[in-house]
Amino acid sequence: MMKYATGEAMLKDALRLSQGMSYKNAMADLPLGGGKAVIWGDSKADKSPDLFRAFGRAVASLNGTYYTAEDVGIDVADMEIVRQETEFVAGLDHGAAASGDPSPITATGVFRGILETARRAFGTDDLTTRTIAVQGVGSVGAHTCDFLAKAGATLVITDIDQAALKAVAARTGARIVAPDDIYDVEADIFSPNALGAVVNEQTLERLKVKAIAGAANNQLVMPEMGELLRRKGILYAPDYVINGGGIINVAAEISGNYSRDWVDSKLDRLMETLGAVLDEALAQDKPTNEVADRIARQRIADAR
Ligand code: NAD
Repeated sequence: MMKYATGEAMLKDALRLSQGMSYKNAMADLPLGGGKAVIWGDSKADKSPDLFRAFGRAVASLNGTYYTAEDVGIDVADMEIVRQETEFVAGLDHGAAASGDPSPITATGVFRGILETARRAFGTDDLTTRTIAVQGVGSVGAHTCDFLAKAGATLVITDIDQAALKAVAARTGARIVAPDDIYDVEADIFSPNALGAVVNEQTLERLKVKAIAGAANNQLVMPEMGELLRRKGILYAPDYVINGGGIINVAAEISGNYSRDWVDSKLDRLMETLGAVLDEALAQDKPTNEVADRIARQRIADAR
């Protein structure tokens, strides 16, 4: 749920997010296609039971070809209202195979993905000498910060939510910077966990990091940014690969038989896939997003 500037911007975002879901499911080796719903509105002011019931009826009209789950601006309580109109809702707290909020599993994958990326960018995944600039300390970002702090990383964090910032800083010892200053931080890794399109020509000029690895969907403003990152010597962990933990958790719920062991083994394989993408890109001097897109499209073609 977001306050889009125009209907066209909303449609474009929905299509980009849908493609991302298709590629994400393929990279996580899940028996799912990809789709995404967007709601045009201010998640802090425009929520109502009627809105979510109407959304639920729209999802119901698709007869199970589409499952919805919480994402930006939406929480489990909203999804409970959607559930009153349709059974095709995942990420709930109760029910036969309820998997709950996917964010902790997403964050587990993001943390492990940061280790995979660090190993290739710095030759070691020891984070005790690394500074990580984290943008967004919401559901995924906050958990990711906890993992990173435990691994000994120095954290610099930003958000527009002051309460969330204070809570994470108190737990992790992170230094807080203003939202726009996060791109100028002297850090080793930039971890975007808030919005899309944050890697663009303006921010690329400012970023001093050697790697980008975070949960946000659609981090690159356009695919060509991947080549610009490669030329600048920044190793980019493709967003829809590193952030696939949550969808694995949701897929376990959709299967009707949730198993944490199954989720863990799928996450292990996803991390191997991320490593393979980074290795191939480095070996062949190719942008990481191009390598990931090619593998995702190949997997989709094979499944067809
Ligand atoms: P969230 O809404 O809980 O957290 C996002 C945070 O970003 C919030 O704290 C918000 O205040 C902050 N933010 C908003 N605008 C900002 C700005 N300009 N500068 C700094 N911070 C800002 O969302 P989330 O579930 O943590 O998801 C974060 C990102 O990860 C999103 O892009 C989402 O699509 C993606 N993602 C989430 C999951 C998941 O399991 N939740 C899975 C895959 C991908």
